[in-house]
Amino acid sequence: MSAETLSSSAIRRRGLMLVLSSPSGAGKSTIARNLLESDPSLELSVSVTTRARRGSEIEGVHYHFRSKREFEILRDNDALLEWAEVHGNFYATPREPAERAMADGRDMLFDIDWQGAMQLKEKMRGDIVSIFILPPSMKELKARLKRRAEDTEEVIAKRLENARVEIEQWREYDYVVINHDLNRAFDEVRAIVTAERLRRDRRPGLFDFVSGLLDEKTD
Ligand code: 5GP
Repeated sequence: MSAETLSSSAIRRRGLMLVLSSPSGAGKSTIARNLLESDPSLELSVSVTTRARRGSEIEGVHYHFRSKREFEILRDNDALLEWAEVHGNFYATPREPAERAMADGRDMLFDIDWQGAMQLKEKMRGDIVSIFILPPSMKELKARLKRRAEDTEEVIAKRLENARVEIEQWREYDYVVINHDLNRAFDEVRAIVTAERLRRDRRPGLFDFVSGLLDEKTD
């Protein structure tokens, strides 16, 4: 391949798929929200779910809330990039917005569970950067779930049980952050994003930059 066909105008940077997973209550949603607020070039992938809407949630912003039947139609029409059953409800990543973002070079954040993370890793390989967030202890996880007070006792118990299954998947992720302190965990996640964006293979523009450097006369 000639140097011209390899120039930055010919090779487009693909977007980064940043996957954040953790058991519920480990602080993932707060970290995700802070990340999106601090970095306007990062977009959230809005998932589809059959779970009931919580009081604080907005249709189309936090989730696309759908009936089980509607979900099945989307799934059967290959409109979902991945899907999983979590705590007795269905969750999925809509295919089209994610594929479009990658092709346009926009970075996207996926707040999804380990089952979804594994499916994306399989399908989108080089585009994925996955981070697993761990709670400092199971006791603290339970306390955080109770403090959130958005779920019933029964739901909290189910989520704690599920947390152990989720935590067992930690080895599958590229990075692991322990959330002892929210600010520190957030800084660590931000550092990962910064480093991943600096990877040579994600920067087709470097080719022209380095060519320019080498062509530059210094006298
Ligand atoms: P919640 O009901 O607390 O909003 O979410 C429950 C779990 O489902 C969380 O771990 C969340 O990351 C996961 N989840 C949310 N959206 C998706 C999705 O599109 N796909 C998968 N696989 N999991 C998701």
